[in-house]
Amino acid sequence: MADLFSDSALLQDIDRYIREQGDAVVRDIARLVAIPSVEGTPEDGAPYGRAPRQALACGLDIAAELGLRTVVCEDRLGYAEIGEDRGEGYLATITHLDVVPAGDGWPADPFTLREQDGYLLGRGVMDDKGPSVLCLYALKYLQDSGRKLRYPLRALLGSNEETGMGDVDYYIENYPAPLFLISPDADFPLINGEKGIYQALLIARHQPDRVLSISGGVAPNAVPAKATARVRADSLAGSEKVRAVCVEPGIWELTAEGISGHASTPEGTVNAIGLIVDYLLENEIPGPAEFPYFRFLQKLHAATNGSGLGLESSDGRFTPLTAVGGQISTENGVVTQTIDCRYGTTMSGEKIIALLREQAGDAADVQQTADSVPFYISPDHPAIQACIECYNFVTGENQAPYTIGGGTYARHFPKACAFGPEHKDRPMPSFCGSIHGVNEAASRADFMEALKIYILALFRLEELEY
Ligand SMILES: [Zn+2]
Repeated sequence: MADLFSDSALLQDIDRYIREQGDAVVRDIARLVAIPSVEGTPEDGAPYGRAPRQALACGLDIAAELGLRTVVCEDRLGYAEIGEDRGEGYLATITHLDVVPAGDGWPADPFTLREQDGYLLGRGVMDDKGPSVLCLYALKYLQDSGRKLRYPLRALLGSNEETGMGDVDYYIENYPAPLFLISPDADFPLINGEKGIYQALLIARHQPDRVLSISGGVAPNAVPAKATARVRADSLAGSEKVRAVCVEPGIWELTAEGISGHASTPEGTVNAIGLIVDYLLENEIPGPAEFPYFRFLQKLHAATNGSGLGLESSDGRFTPLTAVGGQISTENGVVTQTIDCRYGTTMSGEKIIALLREQAGDAADVQQTADSVPFYISPDHPAIQACIECYNFVTGENQAPYTIGGGTYARHFPKACAFGPEHKDRPMPSFCGSIHGVNEAASRADFMEALKIYILALFRLEELEY
């Protein structure tokens, strides 16, 4: 294949295709949005519940209508495929057809696609039903182009991304891995690395004495906006950040409000649990047996870079390590604090747990609950270069790949990257919302641009040796 970027006949033909298919793309996104594919009770033939299975069936119907071969992988996920197997392996895209619940506050039915001023609105339009349809239409273009494909190309359609990614774990265990895979389930330009994710419980060993209970946070991977504690004290004065109310003689309730955010991007957040813990220690509330545990928590909450616990690290590939204590609870007198660390290639789960145990001393048990190693592929890898060059060619920008602290489908595959199609850099009107939120929206024009990027990138990936 000669240089794609100077093949004006091809580029014009892709533009024509996208113009002609635009309405069909939107219609097919609407068909998928209409299925509220939130994980449900497992049934025969529907391991993640009936609705995600229906969405998978609908996605494969769309693929078949476009003339693509389709395969269902034991009801967990499926794929559309083009090209012939030459025994050299295959390339793939992966997206997902399950969604998070709609939540409250929508001005119209979240499962009926709306179009307003060039934006598509509905649960799943951006995450990840729209991108799923774009992948299928990209495959159709490559197939209909009549160009010889060196590697067969699969558009994998997952149905369990939002709640555990069991679909892709199953696929990787039971099917050969692709030579290279792109996952349009994140942001442009291109994500070539995802930090390791380590989570543990820090379980207090003391019996409550003066701190009767403490609770706060909604999830281990979110900085908490609210926290409360019940303590024994004669008299307390609230502070700027913590309210103290006497609820019965000698018993006080403390409440703090912080600023929430995702654990992988804690800059600018304020941890409400940290505010309470600081207040407890400043006011010398914990008894002698309680003190070491709350002093340990104070070190955790002191800084989101983990420096209070000696976890600080950076490797030049990723942004520095983050450590967030997202949730705290008291059950049967036992206080449990969560910790979520996002770490780079110079750290490991083993090192993190060793440092936590050293800092905890006799005050807490440290129980690991999750550890997923960092995922990294060099920005100089030819496949990464091919994708980013297509992005820059189509948009006229000059962007470079970047790394994140979150986790996408990409990390489950040996050679992969997350590649669009969200543009955090392009502001949307106020009636538009973000993924997982109310009025989830996507720009129709951006989707059409993304389709062109994906078509070109898949052609370029077909040219490479793996
Ligand atoms: Zn997603």
